[in-house]
Amino acid sequence: MSSTRTVIVGAGVGGLAAAVALASRGQEVLVVERAAGPGGKMLPAEVGGHQIDAGPTVFTMRWVFEELLAAAGTSLEAELALTPLSILARHAWGDGSRLDLHADAAASAEAIGDFAGAAAAKGYLAFKVRAERVYRALETPFIRSPRPTPLSLAWRAGPGRLGELMRISPYSTLWDALGRHFADPRLRQLFGRYATYCGASPFAAPATLMLIAHVEQDGVWDVAGGMGALARALARVAERLGVRFLYEKEAESLVLTNNRVDGLILQGGERLGARAVILNTDAGALAAGLFGEPVRRATPALPAADRSLSAMTWAISARASGFPMIRHNVFFSDDYRGEFDTLMAARRVPDQPTIYVCAEDRGDAGLSPGLAPGLAPDGAERLLVLINAPPTGDTRPQSFEEIRQCAETTFARLRQMGLTVDHMGAPCLMSAPADYARRFPSTGGALYGRASHGWRATFQRPGARTRVPGLYLAGGSTHPGPGVPMAAMSGRLAAEQLLADWTSIRR
Ligand SMILES: Cc1cc2nc3c(=O)[nH]c(=O)nc-3n(C[C@H](O)[C@H](O)[C@H](O)COP(=O)(O)OP(=O)(O)OC[C@H]3O[C@@H](n4cnc5c(N)ncnc54)[C@H](O)[C@@H]3O)c2cc1C
Repeated sequence: MSSTRTVIVGAGVGGLAAAVALASRGQEVLVVERAAGPGGKMLPAEVGGHQIDAGPTVFTMRWVFEELLAAAGTSLEAELALTPLSILARHAWGDGSRLDLHADAAASAEAIGDFAGAAAAKGYLAFKVRAERVYRALETPFIRSPRPTPLSLAWRAGPGRLGELMRISPYSTLWDALGRHFADPRLRQLFGRYATYCGASPFAAPATLMLIAHVEQDGVWDVAGGMGALARALARVAERLGVRFLYEKEAESLVLTNNRVDGLILQGGERLGARAVILNTDAGALAAGLFGEPVRRATPALPAADRSLSAMTWAISARASGFPMIRHNVFFSDDYRGEFDTLMAARRVPDQPTIYVCAEDRGDAGLSPGLAPGLAPDGAERLLVLINAPPTGDTRPQSFEEIRQCAETTFARLRQMGLTVDHMGAPCLMSAPADYARRFPSTGGALYGRASHGWRATFQRPGARTRVPGLYLAGGSTHPGPGVPMAAMSGRLAAEQLLADWTSIRR
């Protein structure tokens, strides 16, 4: 082992967090990234001269970044301008009903009371308490823990918190658990949708995923400059700490000496020495052989049937009218179970999907031209329109005609629900599962690693440490899971494990 540096492959949020965490501890780090800039899924799309967030749009769990940046000698406030949203999301149904979920739980309870009656408001308040308890029970023994097993989770949670987890029954689905709180199917749909934040179906995800409801209730922030600004801020902090970035360079294979990672080879043949490598690519890439035969067995393979959802997205600069959009808007389908049956069993895009629209130039009060950097002179605004799709980008990519048809039904459905988007001829970047599969090889377009289906899946995500000494994983497909803050947490955990191993080797 001649080199003392760590090479990180991928500047997604997991790779960036690992770089900051290691450099904060005085480590020498080099990041190799295939794209032209940092961010991975957070990298904004260039559409009609505007930067549009075409990946994550909902920023939560800011404490993960507060801790990371504090250890780096700076703070989140110093690096990024964040504004809390007072309305978390606006939800609409085919029957014309609408419901806003507020950052203030009392305001949400009142809105739910007006929407579905006093019992529903009571159900919401009880659900909110339960979701928070589940989150509190899992934060330390699961989210912050390197590689929990059911046994270690029980041990670290302690009897009080374990009791809490058992009360929500980890073996029941999120959908069933929601049925105990909400008689109104629309509310079940609203809170069940949180499963899709991990690319899972609410009908198969464990009830513990209700913790995502708490995460949102705890705060959703608007990031000035979009989510790409978060990636740029992390890269900037890393560079200040001495991390070097090589952009537009692709890692092709890993080099082992005496069965231990000792470098990697870039496309074109250049060899980089490293005493350790952190892969921020999808964990499945190893088992798929994308980094060479010697490391194929470093992590278990992920069967295609266990992949999380993909998406069809339209990052578009267009005029929108009719529906009073705020930043985050959800337009629900009429048949939620049918929608997920089609996605999960038939592996097709449903004829009538649930549609998420992020109106990036809008805040709580709707469109505010003075504050809308993406607003074009003709009133076009920056939108991300997203529907769930099966992760079949490698096995059964949609044809051009299927994609065109899908756009037609999606925008027609929005029109039917009151929102007209002048999409014909508007500048637009469309991404289908095959596009995501190309950007994130070995995934088929699955955006969140293994689907969180059943209680076991939670423990089946690989941890940071692999079977090959010196090789670590960080990112949304590893523990503790997907989403910007969780992937960042995985980067922190990878850095901790690497340092712990290095210390024990030196001893
Ligand atoms: C459409 C969409 C919407 C989402 N919405 C949200 C949301 O609202 N809120 C939220 O919190 N999360 C959301 N997510 C999930 C979130 O974006 C991801 O979980 C998170 O960004 C994943 O980060 P990561 O660390 O796994 O890295 P990734 O973003 O997957 O990046 C991996 C990086 O590795 C690079 N790479 C891969 N192979 C190589 C190689 N061989 N050599 C060099 N570089 C390589 C890639 O180019 C990429 O930059 C969304 C995701 C998508 C796609």
